[in-house]
Amino acid sequence: ADRQFAKVDTGIRNTLKMLGHKIKAGNVIVHEDYDDNLPEIKMLVGELNQVWTNLIDNALDAMEVNGKGNLNIRTRQDREFAEITITDNGPGIADDVKNRIFDPFFTTKQMGKGTGMGLEVVQRIVKTQHQGSIKVNSSPGHTEFIICIPINPS
Ligand code: ADP
Ligand code: MG
Repeated sequence: ADRQFAKVDTGIRNTLKMLGHKIKAGNVIVHEDYDDNLPEIKMLVGELNQVWTNLIDNALDAMEVNGKGNLNIRTRQDREFAEITITDNGPGIADDVKNRIFDPFFTTKQMGKGTGMGLEVVQRIVKTQHQGSIKVNSSPGHTEFIICIPINPS
């Protein structure tokens, strides 16, 4: 696949549209806060769309239980990086689970509901294909994934 110059928020907006029915069904309120001055990034467009899909899908799954879901999406420029933060108010990630979530086939979901491959794919695309980084902060009632992608990749 070829790299293209594109805006990160375009892919996120498209992902939210694609997941629109699941957002509605889960009664989730979405807050979008995009940095309009964020430069375009030379990226693998389809791959990064998969990243937003996997992260937002996980957030929606996590919030399914409470019926009062709040999904926050924020983009910022942090020095030479685009920083994308996806936050949900689901139950959070237990400490003994936290260090395994990126392992292939690791899932806490019911049989047939999760493959355990979503975050493994996110990690490969962000780190290996875009030289970016992923940070997870989670406590009961709050989970955030912070993705950093270099704006001018070498
Ligand atoms: P899957 O969604 O198929 O289970 P993933 O690799 O996408 O696989 O996620 C692995 C696990 O990480 C999930 O089963 C869940 O336990 C945990 N997880 C991921 N995102 C969240 C989140 N936003 N809130 C709580 N747990 C999460
Ligand atoms: Mg998943």
